[in-house]
Amino acid sequence: MSRPIQASIDLASLRHNYGIAKDRARICGKSSKVLPVVKANAYGHGLMRVANALRDVADGFALLDVGDAVSLREAGFSQPILLLEGFFDEADLAACLQHQLIPAVHRVEQFSMLRRQAATGRLPVFVKLNTGMNRLGFTADDVSDLRKALAMTEAVSDVTLMTHFAEADGAKGVEWQVERFDAIRALWPECRNYAVSMANSAALLRYPETIADVARPGVMLYGGSPFDDVSAADLGLEPVMTLSSEVLAIHDIAAGESVGYGGTFVADRPMRIGVVACGYADGYPRHASTGTPILVNGVRTRTLGRVSMDMLVCDLTEISDASVGSPVVLWGRGLPADDVARAAGTICYELFCALARRVPVVEV
Ligand SMILES: *Cc1c(COP(=O)(O)O)cnc(C)c1O
Repeated sequence: MSRPIQASIDLASLRHNYGIAKDRARICGKSSKVLPVVKANAYGHGLMRVANALRDVADGFALLDVGDAVSLREAGFSQPILLLEGFFDEADLAACLQHQLIPAVHRVEQFSMLRRQAATGRLPVFVKLNTGMNRLGFTADDVSDLRKALAMTEAVSDVTLMTHFAEADGAKGVEWQVERFDAIRALWPECRNYAVSMANSAALLRYPETIADVARPGVMLYGGSPFDDVSAADLGLEPVMTLSSEVLAIHDIAAGESVGYGGTFVADRPMRIGVVACGYADGYPRHASTGTPILVNGVRTRTLGRVSMDMLVCDLTEISDASVGSPVVLWGRGLPADDVARAAGTICYELFCALARRVPVVEV
C-alpha cells in the first residue's frame, strides 16, 4: 500500500463557489464578468483541473505566467485570459499577441514594447492603477505620461482600468482606494468609457459596488474565507481541497513524556497519542504549534509538539475508537483550512499553495 496521504479536489464545490461569485455580480445588475484567478497552479488545486471544471461557465481566467496562459489556449480555452503582472519581455509580448492574451500594463516602457511589435497586431490591455497597494501601477502623478504613451500606441485595441485593494478584508476597507481611483480618472477625460476591474474575493463579497465590469476572485472559489471574522461556511462557500491521511501508530504515554523534536510538548497526565502520515514535506505548515485543529474519525482534536518532515502527532486521549488506519483530515471537508491556517499563524492561501508535489491528488 502507498502512503495514505492524499489531497482530494471537489470540483462540484469549486463550481458552486464560482456560482456564488457570479450571483454576487448579478445583484449589481450589470453584466459584470467574473474571472477566476488561477495563478499559482490555481492556488495549488491544479491549473488545468480547475480550468476544465469551469470551462463552460467561466467568463475568463486571470493568472501570472504567460506559459500557463498559452497552455490554456492550447487546451482550447477561448475566453479572455488576463495576465495580472503583464508581460515581462518581448517574447512574452509576442505570445500575448499570438494568443490574444490580455496583459496588465503598469509601466510606460511596456507601451514602447507594444509599439515595437505593433506590426504583429493589436491587443486589449488592463492599465493598472496604484491606488494604495504600492506594488504595481500608475498613480495620479503618472497620468500625463500614461495618456501620452497610450495615445501613441495604436497596438492597444481596448483599455480596462484595473486596481487592487490592500484591505478589502479589513477595517480600513476600500473606499479610500476607490476615491484615489476616481481622482485619477478625473484627470483623464478619455478614460470615462473604459471598463473597470477592482474586486478581489473580499471586495466582491463585502463591497458589491466594486464588482464593476470585471471581478477577479481567487480564494473564495477554493472555499477559503478572505475575512478573519466571517467563516467560509457563513459565506455559503464549500471547501474544495481536502488534505487527508491516516493514523500510522498509536501510543499511550505517561505524564512527563515529551512528543517529537525538541520535546516542545510534555504530557501533564497519561495520554493516548496518534502518529499521522503528514509532515512539512507534504506542505503542512511546520510552524503549526501544539493545539492546531485536526480531525480523526471525524472528531476534532489537536496536534501535539513539532511537525516533522513526514509525520505529525495528535491527541487521541478523548477519541477512544481511534485505531491504526483511522481517517485523518488535515484540512478541508469537516475542518476549514481557515481554522488550521489561523492556528498556524498564516492564511489558507499559503496552505493551499504549499501543497507538495509528492502528495497524490484525486478529483471527486
Ligand atoms: C491574487 C489576486 C487576486 C485574487 O485575490 P483573492 O484575495 O484570492 O480573491 C485578484 N487580483 C489580483 C491583482 C491578484 O493578484
